[in-house]
This record gives sequence, structure tokens and C-alpha cells, in this order.
Amino acid sequence: MEALHTDTLLRVYQLVTTMLALATLGGAWHMKAERALWCWAGAFAAAALTQTARAIAIALDVPRTLWVVGHLGGLLSALLLLLGLRVYLGLPLRCRWPITFAAVVSVGAFTLTAWAGKFWPSLTLTLLATAALTIPAAHAALQAWRRQRGFPLLLLAGDLVVSAVVEVARGLAVSPLISATREQLSQYNAIGLFVTVALVIGQALAMLLLLQDRALRQIERLIEVDVLTGLLNRRGFDERLRRLLQRGDAQPPVLALLDVDHFKRINDTHGHAIGDAVLSGIGERLRETLRPLDLAVRLGGEEFAVIWGQPEAGGDARLGERLREAIGALPFMTTAGPLTVTVSVGVARARGASEAPEALFSRADAALYAAKGAGRDRVVLAA
Ligand code: GH3
Ligand code: MG
Ligand code: MG
Repeated sequence: MEALHTDTLLRVYQLVTTMLALATLGGAWHMKAERALWCWAGAFAAAALTQTARAIAIALDVPRTLWVVGHLGGLLSALLLLLGLRVYLGLPLRCRWPITFAAVVSVGAFTLTAWAGKFWPSLTLTLLATAALTIPAAHAALQAWRRQRGFPLLLLAGDLVVSAVVEVARGLAVSPLISATREQLSQYNAIGLFVTVALVIGQALAMLLLLQDRALRQIERLIEVDVLTGLLNRRGFDERLRRLLQRGDAQPPVLALLDVDHFKRINDTHGHAIGDAVLSGIGERLRETLRPLDLAVRLGGEEFAVIWGQPEAGGDARLGERLREAIGALPFMTTAGPLTVTVSVGVARARGASEAPEALFSRADAALYAAKGAGRDRVVLAA
């Protein structure tokens, strides 16, 4: 292999990190609220500015300043990368031990550089301190990947694991333990730098994919939620019901359809806004009544649905009654005063995994229709 030139590589590194810093800073500015991206942009900017400061220090012929700046920038960059990842994952920012270790080791590194003028031992210490910050970042990314899966987390975790290994290996390679001659030192260091350029590009790609992945997941969640009540909407309901039926549990799910009685009167008497407040109150009461396993849905207008995932056998009427009472027993406090509404409820228990969601729905709907016909404010069980 041709000899790698450290100075050329550092220029490439400067160019790449500057491009990434500009792109991520622009992205962070565009997305404003994305705090993780600000940290990551800061990490690239720290790396890029370090190399620029280095170039200036060379021009001014102040090598010790150059080393200190180079080491500081690398550490700051690793610290911001770690913090950005913790922000992205919603973890507390405290990570006392790695930061303390990195701080103590880097004080040693700076002392060696500033007073003793020993560049290579100082670089070994700085790289070990940087690795002390990269290892917890790699660990956090791996843990998150084990929980959530997905390619972006895997890419970042893999990149950070390799980064930590390269930092330690580069740190050891430039120590007298491994490198006997000056040529060896700078060649090993250059190989480390070469890989670092590739790893930094990989990190930026992983970050981009992570942010895109999260935005997509937020959109997916939003299109399944009803804005007024915060319950699932019709789209989310269809999907969940289909999945529940396919699971074929020993106790098949029970579906209730609810329709508010004479709701038009509330709108006509008090206005649409008060009607909305009542609908939102109904959503809240349904949520409070149910266990985490159960699902409450606003199908549209003043029509709601509830699915009980693993209901007790034979208690279908009681389940329906519980909903009817949760809504009708107490008035809703609105700006137009307390308003009482009642609901009619149709309840149907699935006939096992073989029943299509549409068939279950239409049996519950027929029961609801029967409840309306029989005078409203009641529960009817499906045939
Ligand atoms: P019934 O007992 O037969 O169900 O009578 P109803 O008045 O509840 O039935 P109808 O279907 O005639 O009226 C439903 C009303 O719900 C009509 C519509 O104005 C109102 N509505 C539908 N969606 C919303 C909404 O998002 N907000 C408000 N405030 N009203 C809504
Ligand atoms: Mg209706
Ligand atoms: Mg109605």
C-alpha cells in the first residue's frame, strides 16, 4: 500500500467535517426544535474548526498550541456526539463516569503537551479519553437497537463500536509499546485517520436516517389518532381489530359500538364548540374506564368503539353497561354549564379467529341500531 500522508488526510477530514457541519447546522436550523441535531452539528463543527485552527497554528508555527487545539476539538466532538445521542434517545444527559474519566485523562494529555512537549504520548491519552466517550455512546445505541431494531440504529451502533475500537487501536499504535520508529508512528496514525474519515461519514448518514425514521414514525402515529379526543381513529381501529382477531386468543375480543343519543340537540342548543367539548370529555371517560389492554376509538362524528382484548367469558353485557354508566352517570362540565348525555351501545363478541372484522362490526352495528330503536340509553347484545 502507498504511504498515507497525515497532512493530506487531515485536510480531507477538515473538508468532510466542514461539509457535514454545514449540512447538519442547516438541518438543525430548518428543524429548530430538534435538539439532538444541534448537538451533532456541534460535534461536526468542533471537528471542522479544530482542523482549521490547526492549519492556522501551522502557519503561525506554534506546534504546542496546535496539539492542544487538536486534542480539545476531538474530545469536544466526541462529547457532543454522545450528548446528542442521549438527547435523541430521551436518556438523561448525566453520564458522570465517562466524562470524569475523559476529563482526568485529558488533563494528563494537556500537561504532557503543554509542558513536556511530548506529542505522541499525549495523543495516546487523548485518544483513550475520546474512546471513553465513544464507548458509552456505542453502548446506548446498541441498547436502543436491541429494543427498537431498525437499520439506522444498527448503522450508528456499528459505526460507534468500530470508532471506539479505532480510537483505542490508534491510541495504542502511536505509543512506544507498538511503534518503534517515527515512520511507523505516523503511518499507523494515518491509517487510523483514514478509517476515521469513513466512520464520520457513516455517523452523519446514520443520524440523517435516524431523524427521518423518527419523523416517519410520528406521522404514522398521527394518522392513526383522532385530533379532538386523542383516541385512535377509524384507520387505527381497523388495523388493530384485524390484528386482534388474527391472534386467535382463547378469549376472543369483544367489540362495543357507541353512539351518543340526540347529539344534534347539543350542537343545535349550545353550539358546535360545546358539542366538541362533550365529545372530548367522552374520549377522556372512555380512556379512564379501560385497562391498558383495551382500545377506545372515535370512529367519526359522535360514534365511538371499544375493543376489549382479553375479556372475561360471559361478562359482555356488564362491559357495555360500564361504558354506558361511565358516560351517562355524571354530567360533563362545559362553559354552557353541566350537560348530561346518554349513549346507546351495541356489543358483539367475536366468533373466534375465523370471523372477519367486517362481520363482527356489522353484528355490533345491528345491536346498536336495535338499542336506538328500543328507546336509546341502553345496551343490546348482538345475536
Ligand atoms: P341519535 O340519538 O339518533 O343518534 O341522534 P343524533 O342527533 O345523535 O344523531 P345524528 O346522526 O342525526 O346527529 C349526529 C350529530 O353529530 C350531527 C353532527 O352535527 C354532530 N357531529 C358530528 N361530528 C361532530 C363533531 O366533530 N363535533 C360536533 N360538535 N358535532 C359533530
Ligand atoms: Mg351517529
Ligand atoms: Mg347519535
